[in-house]
Amino acid sequence: MKILYISPQEKGKEDIPPFEFMNIFGLPVEYEVRLFDENSQVNLFNNLKLNTIQYNPDIIFFLGKSIKSYKKIKEYSLLLDSLNKPQVLIGDLSVAYDSILKNTGIDAVIRKGFELFTPQKILAQYEQSKKEFSVNNLFLRDKYGKVLFTGIKQEEFDFDKVPFPNYDLINMNYYLNKLKRNNYSSFEIFSSIGCTGLCTFCINRVSRVKRHSIEYVLDQMSYLKERYGVNFINFGDPSFTSDLNWTKKFIRELGRRDLNISYKIYGARTDQVNKEILQGLKNTGCKSIYFGFESASQNQLVSIKKNVSVEQNLEALLVAKELGIETPIQIITGLPNEDIAELKTTISILKINGFKVSKDKVRLLLPQPNTPIYSQFFSNGVIKNEEEYLLSLSDLDTRNIWRPELNSHLENIIMEINS
Ligand code: SF4
Repeated sequence: MKILYISPQEKGKEDIPPFEFMNIFGLPVEYEVRLFDENSQVNLFNNLKLNTIQYNPDIIFFLGKSIKSYKKIKEYSLLLDSLNKPQVLIGDLSVAYDSILKNTGIDAVIRKGFELFTPQKILAQYEQSKKEFSVNNLFLRDKYGKVLFTGIKQEEFDFDKVPFPNYDLINMNYYLNKLKRNNYSSFEIFSSIGCTGLCTFCINRVSRVKRHSIEYVLDQMSYLKERYGVNFINFGDPSFTSDLNWTKKFIRELGRRDLNISYKIYGARTDQVNKEILQGLKNTGCKSIYFGFESASQNQLVSIKKNVSVEQNLEALLVAKELGIETPIQIITGLPNEDIAELKTTISILKINGFKVSKDKVRLLLPQPNTPIYSQFFSNGVIKNEEEYLLSLSDLDTRNIWRPELNSHLENIIMEINS
């Protein structure tokens, strides 16, 4: 069976490798696979239809990296629709499954959180019964155009059975160059997917945490170093430290192996670290941790169900700072009931505690379908039509879409407080 993976480029987003596909590439089943990656192979997209016809795949998988990729996925999937090949969507855009199945050429959407093992089930089943999707964890369209869900199967899946990504299927030189920082050759890996948090704006809330063993993670780090000279790992996990025992063991084993690789943690909750853990991470090469500070207004933290206090957030940042771990501050603004005074307080509390906030660390809320905060925007009429909303995201700077009064003040507030 021939499989085509298509990874469209996302406007305004730094080029990142198509990780979801790389994991599927590593599956132990022998299929003929090809990747059209718009970051590194723009030429293939100049005539996507012709190139697809020439390859003649049996099935096409699209990667929707975020809801901002909706417009491109729609355009490309409709372009290929006449080829009569089944088209499946995987990735964070899957939260918009309703619009995708009603308005694009995609036939099936893999539910967020099940992307690592559902594709292989689709392939095995599709090969047997030819042209039918009947596995769990899928959103489908019936013959009347109605969207159906095939049901969740929380099967016991051994996360370590997913082989290392087949890195050779992507243009590694391209990505290693893109990700190079100072003297570090860096690459991103995941030790887990999902999060224990329930933040109302976040799509990771929908998935249980599934985690690799320590051995698997360390072997992968070691492999990247030996094969590609990688000496800096970016852990892309939404909540790297969600399992305290795992984190302690990771620190112990990483110290023992002495891989001489530094690393950065892209996501951790402040209530899931303590001084001992932070010290251990620092000792084993951790250079920075991104904590979602979000806001210094307790009311806002409660309203987004962050389930941490402002004090907890500050405490973790201060301890990390004292230990010499960088903590790029991430705050969120544009929340439904947030006012300018709260935004000002957040930035000035951070300043008083010695943290500088830059504009690029202030995230504007991007309501994502099927999150509680999206429903709020929908019911109060800020978002009126999902399809129009999704189409607008790829062209517009979201700063201009809602809460313009907060957005227009943002730069001045940051300048004023940091001066
Ligand atoms: S803690 Fe972070 S990753 Fe987890 S649900 Fe909240 S925002 Fe999402």
